[in-house]
Amino acid sequence: MTGSAIVATGPDRLHAFRKAVDGCDRCALHRGRTRVCHGEGEAEAPLMVIVDPPRGEELAAGQAIAGADRALLQRMMASIGLTAAQVYVAPLVRCGPQGMDPEARVVADADALGACRAILGKEIDLVRPRMLLLMTHTPGALLAAVTRDAVAPDGGVERLRERVYELKGRPAIVSWPPSLLHNDSSRRREAQADLREVKRRLEG
Ligand code: SF4
Repeated sequence: MTGSAIVATGPDRLHAFRKAVDGCDRCALHRGRTRVCHGEGEAEAPLMVIVDPPRGEELAAGQAIAGADRALLQRMMASIGLTAAQVYVAPLVRCGPQGMDPEARVVADADALGACRAILGKEIDLVRPRMLLLMTHTPGALLAAVTRDAVAPDGGVERLRERVYELKGRPAIVSWPPSLLHNDSSRRREAQADLREVKRRLEG
């Protein structure tokens, strides 16, 4: 992607974007990569969900979110009436070496997070969601880097939930990552409350 301009518009714009990202070498994570875990969904999806860097399972599948986490996220979205076409899922980081343990997550350093944040920003511009839902372990790092809100970069989900931020001119809220919800009914209730707020705002 180095030096390549993304100029496509209309229905081809995401295809051109993903093709460009396939060649991205902006950070060291491109080494050992065999496939990119692209964002998934359609342009104009009203909601973009931002998820953590891939685990081995995502890298093997070439998906933004895979396996049990993917199934849970789909059920949660369905619970507030959102179809797959209404939800775009984008990862904070898209690459890592093949052959990782399925449960091990790519460790992204500041360089990788910064480089891939620029790609995420471009993706938001192309998809044009109405709002963003940050379901990552590290929402503070993203919000501190890209919003005008006063957020400590080390702010975790617990501290940052139940507020509305502005990210690229859109409302953004923080919730628990799907991987933390499988066996935690209390966090699951909080996540459902966050989703009801998403629904309320999308319908407003
Ligand atoms: S992780 Fe992101 S910035 Fe790094 S090489 Fe992959 S697409 Fe490019």
